[in-house]
Amino acid sequence: MKTIGLIGGMSWESSAEYYRLLNEQVKQRLGGLHSAKCLMYSDDFEEIERFQSEGKWEEAGERLADVARSLEKGGAELIVLCTNTMHKVISSIEEAVSVPVLHIADATAKKIEANHLHTVGLLGTKYTMEQEFYKERIADSGIKVLIPEAAERDMINQVIFDELCLGEIKDSSKVKYQQAIQNLIDRGAEGIILGCTEIGLLIHEEDAEVPLFDTAKIHVEAALNEALDS
Ligand code: GLU
Repeated sequence: MKTIGLIGGMSWESSAEYYRLLNEQVKQRLGGLHSAKCLMYSDDFEEIERFQSEGKWEEAGERLADVARSLEKGGAELIVLCTNTMHKVISSIEEAVSVPVLHIADATAKKIEANHLHTVGLLGTKYTMEQEFYKERIADSGIKVLIPEAAERDMINQVIFDELCLGEIKDSSKVKYQQAIQNLIDRGAEGIILGCTEIGLLIHEEDAEVPLFDTAKIHVEAALNEALDS
């Protein structure tokens, strides 16, 4: 089994999920007392979020590149960046290390293709929904990406930063997310990307009538395929 290096802390609520899911899936696949070989460098999200909101993406990229170098020095044989949003600076990380970096959107696009879907809705932070870095990576696989309309994007982003990243799971927000999902379905979405690693804490498979692509779960599965070489 290869050692997985996790760049976490963005937020720690979802990093804890990555750790739990990794170990649960290793247990399922290998049985016995097997557990995931992994290292996590959990950064301080207050500082990272400040880079995001001030548009200091280059600084953010340098910061995460340093984290990736530390993980490689510590023995990581592949790198997993546990946030969709920060994939905006994935090239800084890729350039900093010689081990593979598993892109969350590539793993997600493969899953969507395996489900034979052509049009999906995307929920995530405003950066992920509104900027091109994520949507174009999915679109590279020939998949059409729809995003919610502006007021809904604000609501979705606000729930991520003011609730989910702080561990607050509210029924009232679930209802609002379900409405946003329904509106995307009405516009033609055949599936929905939960394109923020905390959304799986709020929305589950049974909350929508179309397949949901939980990026944290998909990323973990892809990391283990690589780590277990299957
Ligand atoms: N974890 C989130 C994501 O997957 C949001 C936190 C962040 O802005 O990095 O995008």
